[in-house]
Amino acid sequence: MRTCDFASCQKPAVRTLGDCVLCNRHLCSHHLQHAFHTCPKWEDADAYDPAAREAEARELTELIDKINTPALASRASHLRGGMPCSIPPLFYDRATRSSVMGGMNYHIEVCFDDGVKWFARMRRFNATSPPAALRDYTMQCEVATLKFLEETNIPTPKVFDFALDHAGNTVGVGYILMEKLPGKSLRWSIANQDQRRKVMNQLANTFIELRKYPFNLLGSLDRPGDFHIGAFARESLTDFTQAEMRTMGPFSSLEDYHKSSLRLILDLIIRGELYSQQPVDAYLIHRFLVDLVPSMSSLSAQDDQQYYLKHADDKGDHILVDEDFNITGIIDWEWAHTAPPTHAFNSPIGLLPVADFYNGANSLGDDETTFARLLEGKGCQELADFVWNGRLQHRFTFCCDYDLADWNGFLGLFQGLRDAVKVDHGVGWDDRRITALHRYKEDDGLLLLLSRRRND
Ligand SMILES: [Zn+2]
Ligand SMILES: [Zn+2]
Repeated sequence: MRTCDFASCQKPAVRTLGDCVLCNRHLCSHHLQHAFHTCPKWEDADAYDPAAREAEARELTELIDKINTPALASRASHLRGGMPCSIPPLFYDRATRSSVMGGMNYHIEVCFDDGVKWFARMRRFNATSPPAALRDYTMQCEVATLKFLEETNIPTPKVFDFALDHAGNTVGVGYILMEKLPGKSLRWSIANQDQRRKVMNQLANTFIELRKYPFNLLGSLDRPGDFHIGAFARESLTDFTQAEMRTMGPFSSLEDYHKSSLRLILDLIIRGELYSQQPVDAYLIHRFLVDLVPSMSSLSAQDDQQYYLKHADDKGDHILVDEDFNITGIIDWEWAHTAPPTHAFNSPIGLLPVADFYNGANSLGDDETTFARLLEGKGCQELADFVWNGRLQHRFTFCCDYDLADWNGFLGLFQGLRDAVKVDHGVGWDDRRITALHRYKEDDGLLLLLSRRRND
């Protein structure tokens, strides 16, 4: 993705782990070592937190300085036939930060004189932000997805305008101008059973609605205003060679999609961009996942090869609700993509029984069971079956590209996956690793990683 920022180093920076927001650099596995990189680690909260606060204030102040608010206000006003509007002065305030920004975006409220409110969504820029070309592509895909959703009866914010980062953009930074929906982000963990059931009942209706819009390719909507499916807007599926962006897809078959995405992960492990702490384990795990692709693809065996829009981050806080738990909107469609029905209509991850799931149990949780029954009650047995039979799909998706720093979490997930496909049932990782080293002993990538380790 990027080259290491350490003076004159030409090695590829490690993705995610190598992104340091404190010194704003991308580092390779060698220069991430303490001898070269001395920023505090997040585990050391006393040292890390104040430094992170400072870095965030610096980042946001820099972003705010770039934004030309009069130009944004005049654009918004023009789009509403000259209706005057105002934008409150922007400044970084730690106390209100969570109301104006998410992990990747910063939001500015636009208030019209007649009481209508819009907001402008802008990308944050720090060491964890994707490179510019990918930021532009995902913004364009988000707009295309929201434009598509406007054609459905799913409650989503209307998009009025957008501009990418370029010299002619008078606002100074890329933005999406959209409707501000009423309601607050749902907090699933504090909702009671009745409230949850009410939300799930409405969520089931959105599944039924999305089922009416099949696509014939796997990828992301990429052209605002038409239903074209282009490459995946996803950082983990994007490669950069010599600073040139190489996106992945679209694909017409699920098997091609799985094989290509796992091939990229294996290549990134070999290049030291992923799993630099545990390359051999990571390689063996993903190599095993490649062998599972035929079973995963046959899960979705269908003659018509149709795919459906899937929200990429359905933890629960993407749902806005009013005080009575009526859904007022579904937001944050960044990274959305099409998926086979077994994935698109599987239970949202917010409904997973987290502890049991990570412990390897393959039975459905209470919320998932309720959700499946609600779908059955609406006469949608097929959709309900995607939920009833969804565990293997959840496990496979979680195991691809999982953060192995959470090794115990991973072992539970992986055990559950092997139980679900009935491979090496009950075998622990150490034994499993020996078998895998033997099974893939002629794999070129594995041989390279092992020889590199011997030379270290
Ligand atoms: Zn640093
Ligand atoms: Zn380096």
